[in-house]
Amino acid sequence: MHPDLAAISNVWQADVRVDTLRAEHEHLVATVTTAIQAHKDAVAARDAAKIALDTVRSSERVNNRELDSYAQKRDVTKRMLDDGSAPNYAIAERQLANCIALVDELETKGLDLLDGIDKATVALAEAEKARVGAEADERAARQALAARDAPLRVELTAALQARERVWSELPPLYHDSYSELRRRKRVALVNVDDGSCSACHMRVAPQKLNEVLMKKAVHTCVGCGGYLLPG
Ligand SMILES: [Zn+2]
Repeated sequence: MHPDLAAISNVWQADVRVDTLRAEHEHLVATVTTAIQAHKDAVAARDAAKIALDTVRSSERVNNRELDSYAQKRDVTKRMLDDGSAPNYAIAERQLANCIALVDELETKGLDLLDGIDKATVALAEAEKARVGAEADERAARQALAARDAPLRVELTAALQARERVWSELPPLYHDSYSELRRRKRVALVNVDDGSCSACHMRVAPQKLNEVLMKKAVHTCVGCGGYLLPG
């Protein structure tokens, strides 16, 4: 390999190392951020499920009180009809029929509400289970970040120092073109496969490739600007 190409390769490897460490840190931070939000959402969902259960329970209590009151009224009316003490037989009879119908209606509603309580109880248990899971996920994500945070900083500092060192060894002639490749987030070193650039598939002039192989010159791909490797 041409010595200049070796110098470029050293910088590229140092940059890949820095990028990898930064990506690892970003990934750990992003995982924590996502886990915190997921935990918050799970708490909100659990709270909503709790409110839903309280609401249906309260409806059931109201319904029960109403049911008791009409059942009582029904029994009193029935007794008055049975012992002939009703002041007006026809009105009492209508009232009894009315009470029986209402009790029937409230009993049906009560069964629906009990069913609703069962469903809301199951939903609350599931929401609570999801919340516990989300809490554990957040704790694990925080621990993973905490465990790697300090070592990653040390590794990144070392990687940046190494990068600085190899950069100072890179002939200034390549500084701008290499920095431009990095700015465009391009691959700095490309292989030539069957006479074409492995990154962008542009044809490489045979003479260029030859000079690279002979270590006579450093050439870039006309398509992507990557430095051509001798293979
Ligand atoms: Zn290319």
